[in-house]
Amino acid sequence: MPSVPNPLPVPGPDTRIDLHAHSTASDGTLSPVELVRSAAEAGLDVLAITDHDTTAGWAPAVAALPPGLTLIRGAELSCRWYGVQPSIALHLLAYLFDPEAPELVSELARIRAAREIRAERIVDSLRADGIDVDWADIQARAAGGTVGRPHIAQALIRAGLVRTTSEAFEPRWLGWRYHAPKEDLDVFHAIRLVREAGGVPVFAHPRASRRGPVVPDALIVEMAAAGLAGLEADHEDQSPAEREHVRRLAAELGLTVTGSSDFHGEHKTVRLGAFTTSVESYERIVAAATGVPPVVAP
Ligand code: AMP
Ligand code: ZN
Ligand code: FE
Ligand code: FE
Repeated sequence: MPSVPNPLPVPGPDTRIDLHAHSTASDGTLSPVELVRSAAEAGLDVLAITDHDTTAGWAPAVAALPPGLTLIRGAELSCRWYGVQPSIALHLLAYLFDPEAPELVSELARIRAAREIRAERIVDSLRADGIDVDWADIQARAAGGTVGRPHIAQALIRAGLVRTTSEAFEPRWLGWRYHAPKEDLDVFHAIRLVREAGGVPVFAHPRASRRGPVVPDALIVEMAAAGLAGLEADHEDQSPAEREHVRRLAAELGLTVTGSSDFHGEHKTVRLGAFTTSVESYERIVAAATGVPPVVAP
C-alpha cells in the first residue's frame, strides 16, 4: 500500500460518491479487484469498500485501483445495542481507520470467529429439519471471506428451495425460523474503537425497519454524543419517509448525511452508484479521519 497518497482529484459538482460496498472479502460476489473495476465502469469517482468486520479487501483493491477512482478504505462493523431486551443489531460503517489498531483488530477477529460458529449453528438447524445444505461447502465458497447469512441463502438457492436472496430472508427461512444471533460489538464500544483508530463512524441504514427492529432516536442522540459522525439516509432498505426522518435527525444533531448502494454483487439487485453521497459530506468524512488516507491510483 502506498504510504504517501497521490494528490486527490478535486471533487466537482458532478462527482459521484458511493460509500458502502461489499466484496468477496465478506458477502459480496465481486472480488475486491472486480469491485474497483466495476466502480470505475459505473462512472463512480469515489468508492468505499466496506466489508463486514474485515479489512482483508483493502490491499487487493488498492493494488488494482483504476486511474481516476478514489478508494475510501472502510468496514461495516456488526454491532448491538444492549439497552433493550432483546438487544437490537445494528451496523456501523467505519471509514479510514488504522487497520492495525490492536483492540479493533482483535474485536474484528473475535466477531468473524463468532460468525463462523453462528453460521454453522444455522446450517445445523436446517439439516435437523432435513434440508440439504452443507457447512463445509458453504465455508469453502465463502473462501476465507467473512461468512454471512447471504452465503447460507446461496446454499438454499442451490438446493432449489428459494429463488432469490430476499426469499431466503423471509421469516420461514433465515429471517426468523432458522435464525441464530451472532456475538456483536457493543455499539458504544465500537464508536470508541473506531475513533481511537482515527476512523470516522457512520450509522448504516439506521431506520431500515423492513430488516427488523430499529433503535429509537434517543439512542442515536447518545451515539452522537459518544462520537458518531454520520447517518446513512439514502439506502434502498429505507423508505422515502424513513430517509427524510434520518436527514432531519442528522441536521438536528449536526451529523453528516450519506447515501450509498450497499452493493453486494449478485447477492442483491442494487447496482453500484444507485445511491450516492454529496461532495460536502464526503469532504467532512475525509477531514475527520486520521487513520489512513483516501487512495488514488498513480
Ligand atoms: P449477517 O451479517 O450474516 O447477519 O447477514 C446480514 C446481511 O444479509 C446483510 O448485510 C445483507 O447483505 C443481507 N440481508 C439482510 N437482510 C436481507 C434481506 N431481507 N434480503 C436480502 N439480503 C438481506
Ligand atoms: Zn452484507
Ligand atoms: Fe448493513
Ligand atoms: Fe452493507
